[in-house]
Amino acid sequence: MKPEVVIWLVRDTCRLNDNPALNLATKIAKERGVYFVPLACLEPRRWADQQFGMPRIGKHWARFRSESLRALRDDLLTHGSDLWVSAEEPVYALDRAQQSMNIVHVVCDRPVATEERLETARIEAEGYSVITCDVDELFRFEQLPFELDELPATFSKFRKVVEKKPGLVPDAPLKIAELASCIAQPWPDPVEWTETFDYVLSPKTEVRTLGGERSAQAHWAEYLDAKALSHYKETRNAFCGPMQSSHLSAWLAHGCISARQIWAETLIYEAQNGANDSTYWLRFELLWREYFRWYSRAFDWTLFRRKGPNDLEQSSDQNARRFETWKTGQTNCDIVDAAMHELNETGWMSNRARQLVASHLIYELNLDWRLGASYFESQLVDFDVASNWGNWAYIAGVGPDPRGGRIFNLNDQADRYDPDQSYRRRWLP
Ligand SMILES: Cc1cc2nc3c(=O)[nH]c(=O)nc-3n(C[C@H](O)[C@H](O)[C@H](O)COP(=O)(O)OP(=O)(O)OC[C@H]3O[C@@H](n4cnc5c(N)ncnc54)[C@H](O)[C@@H]3O)c2cc1C
Repeated sequence: MKPEVVIWLVRDTCRLNDNPALNLATKIAKERGVYFVPLACLEPRRWADQQFGMPRIGKHWARFRSESLRALRDDLLTHGSDLWVSAEEPVYALDRAQQSMNIVHVVCDRPVATEERLETARIEAEGYSVITCDVDELFRFEQLPFELDELPATFSKFRKVVEKKPGLVPDAPLKIAELASCIAQPWPDPVEWTETFDYVLSPKTEVRTLGGERSAQAHWAEYLDAKALSHYKETRNAFCGPMQSSHLSAWLAHGCISARQIWAETLIYEAQNGANDSTYWLRFELLWREYFRWYSRAFDWTLFRRKGPNDLEQSSDQNARRFETWKTGQTNCDIVDAAMHELNETGWMSNRARQLVASHLIYELNLDWRLGASYFESQLVDFDVASNWGNWAYIAGVGPDPRGGRIFNLNDQADRYDPDQSYRRRWLP
């Protein structure tokens, strides 16, 4: 008789703490007395894929994801389990496993965008029972006071609705699942993921963003200890400085820490250190992230078309020469060039810098906004499909911006946020 297993399909949640999918998978495994198998798939075909001639996955993201998966495997091993990392697409990995196991359920996070939705549908179409849950959101779908097709049209409306709904608060973070009693089952005929990355964290990176849950927890504890949260709102628009914003984005994007934990711990911080606009503002920004996660589900494939969810005309110009100057930081607009050098070297740039370079590409170079979004996708260490494409569509005026797009005065912005030019001196060649 083939052994029965419950598979936890790891997508973008490389952590053990506060992980509803992991907890659900182990709960079902225990209740049914079956094996529990954590599986992550890093298919080379998808990794090699191109979008507008650019790789879908770049060196910064790949470094961080492979560190995160290695850390997850180590953590699972210390809890008596293991992580199988396959070089196949999930549906092929599952089919291979099914030859020697009986897969009872596949548990994973609710798909956040079109490709993830199609991947889940494909697994279901092969006859597997897929159970999805809201893993990386603040709110569960059932908690939202509206259906997805009635998602408020702007962030402000969304925020007001969720902030005003009595009793609507993120669930308390879950304790780590008890894994020892779930017996791990070896993966049959593994197509192991063997790709190695010799790329290491750039020495010019201001914050040591190493993948993995422990490093996420250590960074967040350090940020709270430094009491940086108390001045977050005043400093978050700065271009540089290790404590000017939380720098949590890579750990959030790869699911090394949960937004619910950060939310809950800002409330504890307020009780201990006093609340102010800044301590609230980090939760405000997490609501932006939340909004874009539901927005990308609501608008699905339209988020990726030139006319965006709003179906509005936008430049279709994909002039290679102008695009090249932007990518390589040679536009002659020094704040844009500095920020692009930072992005290329480290995989990160501040929120303000992201807005400025996006505004430049769309409104000064008059290029198709999707070129910029795709380039960010290939470079960002914290690439997150909903936040990236949502923010680009917003600035291009084809997304949820009530003002129909954001044009920034780059000289004013540079003077205001880099008055002594230290950021530009640091990054311009
Ligand atoms: C064109 C453009 C593309 C972007 N692409 C991404 C992306 O791929 N991945 C990503 O995580 N963020 C993206 N952002 C949002 C934002 O710029 C980054 O989350 C932020 O700069 C990361 O730094 P931090 O962690 O120090 O942010 P903080 O200011 O400390 O914010 C805390 C957290 O809140 C969330 N957050 C903050 N601002 C936003 C926002 N505008 N939209 C959504 N979430 C937000 C992030 O998870 C962030 O880590 C993009 C913004 C723009 C303008």
